[in-house]
Amino acid sequence: MAHTCIHWFRKGLRLHDNPALMAALKDCKQLYPVFILDPSLHNNACVGINRWRFLIGALKDLDGSLRKLNSRLFVVRGKPEDVLPKLFTKWKVTRLTYEYDTEPYSLQRDSKVTSLAKERGVEVIYKVSHTLYNIERVLEENNGKPPLTYTKLQAIAKTIGPPKRPIPAPTMDDMKDVKTPSSENHEKEYGIPTLEELGLDTAPLGEDLFPGGEQEALRRLDEHMKRTKWVCSFEKPQTSPNSLSPSTTVLSPYVTFGCLSVRTFWWRLTEVYRGNKHSDPPVSLHGQLLWREFFYTASLGIPNFNKMEGNSVCTQVDWDTNPDYLAAWREARTGYPFIDAIMTQLRQEGWIHHLARHAVACFLTRGDLWISWEEGQKVFEQLLLDGDWALNAGNWQWLSASTFFHQYFRVYSPVAFGKKTDKNGDYIRKYLPLLKKFPAEYIYEPWKAPRSIQQAAGCIVGKDYPHPIVQHEVISKKNIQRMKLAYAKRSPESPSKSKGVKRKAPSIIEMIKKKAKVK
Ligand code: FAD
Repeated sequence: MAHTCIHWFRKGLRLHDNPALMAALKDCKQLYPVFILDPSLHNNACVGINRWRFLIGALKDLDGSLRKLNSRLFVVRGKPEDVLPKLFTKWKVTRLTYEYDTEPYSLQRDSKVTSLAKERGVEVIYKVSHTLYNIERVLEENNGKPPLTYTKLQAIAKTIGPPKRPIPAPTMDDMKDVKTPSSENHEKEYGIPTLEELGLDTAPLGEDLFPGGEQEALRRLDEHMKRTKWVCSFEKPQTSPNSLSPSTTVLSPYVTFGCLSVRTFWWRLTEVYRGNKHSDPPVSLHGQLLWREFFYTASLGIPNFNKMEGNSVCTQVDWDTNPDYLAAWREARTGYPFIDAIMTQLRQEGWIHHLARHAVACFLTRGDLWISWEEGQKVFEQLLLDGDWALNAGNWQWLSASTFFHQYFRVYSPVAFGKKTDKNGDYIRKYLPLLKKFPAEYIYEPWKAPRSIQQAAGCIVGKDYPHPIVQHEVISKKNIQRMKLAYAKRSPESPSKSKGVKRKAPSIIEMIKKKAKVK
């Protein structure tokens, strides 16, 4: 039987390594590639303007690539469970394909859609390609439980063997018997909306530093993979949170939206490593992709993973509710230039370095402001181009010393940390131009500058730039005690209760290098 298929793009906005799309093409006479703009998912609270731009760019790129195969992308609006049954009837669909997605929201949605499809006699095929491994298989290998340490995840990955090799994008040959019926009205009915048509305020948009789309993703991947020495010697802790151009790949937005297959990324790295001495997990680039896998596995195996309550592995902490502090952090008004510069970069550009995320996450939670990691998670979800449900929740739990990492007495200084890699404060000068005339001596602590220096810099602390919102030296000590109490209240069977033991504090670099060994 020749099928009429919908391939439903959600994440996985690419043609390469897209096994579900290839499954759609098998014995297919008509193909409808569909993307659904769902108002409950695609709204301003969840998706900031930079992410919108990325998504629209990725859809345009996808449509362009489909056109080269004599096909088109159909963008429809509504809830998938309302929209898809109508399309099944309208187009006489016999098969639906999509990429498997382990987010709880997606699992629920897909289960509803699958029932609706089956009721209508529509065959449903889904394939795993958003992660290196089938996450359910990883859980099975660990007796149904998520591995709570990276070392354990590594051991499981070793048992399973290397990730599947990526498959090539479909060619004209794959499409020779396949048609995509599209009318003259296509743009009007199914075209990709502009940001303006979506009613979005584009005024805050700056330069498009990371344009969305598969072509751009593959181009960037190629660029990085040409740098053999850099790839082979990559050690995450040696990269800088505050360099003026990114010190890591910034492939994360492309991986999140699936413009780049994580398996393609993995195997390209393997090729670069071949025959060369290279760094290893957890600090290598392969190691970074395994961190992603680690958090995906945890997110599928631990109910309520994005919350504190009802999350069995998360330390229950009496976080404060303080809307003023939260707003000051979100809006880059904490009075700590390093923190405010990072939050400005995040808002303006949609990407910040991993260690910069460490600094602002620690500051918001256990370090200084004592605000729940769930609040930080929401802000990151909205502003990050790479906002990813599992990685965001997992890393916030890590940084707030709620789950996975338990050495809560190791706190990042909002002053000293940034100085290590940027003594002159050039990063602060770039993102907070108001402070750019301060001498290096005071750029991290402008409130310490004598009045005459503040005047000469054209910025008076308390008037033009805020005083520090809290006194780090004082509050961080108090917060360590509060955290100690929270740990004391944890139940004896709580995972890794015994691991929060005080030892001589090593440097941040050592700390991250040891990440893999720490529960
Ligand atoms: P590279 O160092 O070039 O790494 C290559 C790839 O490995 C990344 O693209 C990413 O897919 C993966 N990766 C790297 N570090 C991690 C990590 N710690 N955990 C999981 N995967 C990783 N990353 C997201 O993609 N989405 C998020 O929503 C997200 N939220 C975070 C929240 C906090 C509080 C923190 C501390 C980290 C968060 N991260 C998140 C992880 C990490 O910071 C980013 O993946 C990384 O900075 C992306 O930059 P890159 O592509 O240059 O990374």
